[in-house]
Amino acid sequence: FDNRPGHIWYDGKLVPWSEAKLHVLSHGLHYASSVFEGERAYGGEIFKLTEHTERLKESARILDFEIPYSVEEINEACKLTLAKQGFRDAYIRPVAWRGSEMMAVAAQHSTIHLAIAAWEWPSYFDPAQRLKGLRLDLAEWRRPDPATIPSKAKAAGLYMICTLSKHAAERKGYADALMLDYRGQVAECTGANVFFVKGGEIHTPTPDCFLDGITRRTVVDLARARGITVHERAIFPDELESMEQCFITGTAAEVTPVSEIADWRFEVGDIVKTLMNDYTAAVQPKAAVAA
Ligand code: PMP
Repeated sequence: FDNRPGHIWYDGKLVPWSEAKLHVLSHGLHYASSVFEGERAYGGEIFKLTEHTERLKESARILDFEIPYSVEEINEACKLTLAKQGFRDAYIRPVAWRGSEMMAVAAQHSTIHLAIAAWEWPSYFDPAQRLKGLRLDLAEWRRPDPATIPSKAKAAGLYMICTLSKHAAERKGYADALMLDYRGQVAECTGANVFFVKGGEIHTPTPDCFLDGITRRTVVDLARARGITVHERAIFPDELESMEQCFITGTAAEVTPVSEIADWRFEVGDIVKTLMNDYTAAVQPKAAVAA
């Protein structure tokens, strides 16, 4: 990934992709003082850019550091990175971390860095598999108690168990894994939120110990706009037997149907299909919609 053509925005400058490097003694690498975002551009416009930038700033604050750029400056930097790469449809990855001035747990006075990269990433999952519905494993690792780790931050450290869970699932031939939380309730996938459908109504876990995804909130609004009842509540795995449809949501994953989770089976049904279409319509650039 480190020797592509093009440029990466790095601390205020566009640098050639292969030269966007950092020191091995960066605090962010050793102590996980690193936060990031995942955004998608459709037709040249970054969907819900300000919400992503605000979450990035907030994630940093939760990890006790302040990104030295305003929301407007970061928004402009994301747009510049996308334009410089010449992409209309792309994934945008801003990342902020503590630098290498102080090599210890405490690093109050280290420099805060920000980099933004953009690349083409048409489908997070294999497109053919995506339409048939993904097969998910049930992860061994659980989302931790928010009293244990700041779960509202999109922080690098929180992804350790996601990588472990996704690797384990892929080794068994699954596309991804569903993680339970510290109470044994259904939580989320390794990079996406999860929804279920039963009797024409939607059920999704309350995001009290995992990321309340921007796609998740968008899809809840889209469903309610169609008059579909959405229940945000605690869901235990023993209920999955009675769920008829299942799908996951995320910036990279968009709205993707799920056909199985371990021994549970779901149909790729009408509500999933409707919300896939509604999401595709919602992300279109405003200029195109107005035209
Ligand atoms: N949960 C996790 C662990 C994620 O990595 C993501 C992707 N950012 C999501 C949920 C979905 O969040 P969003 O819809 O904001 O991309």
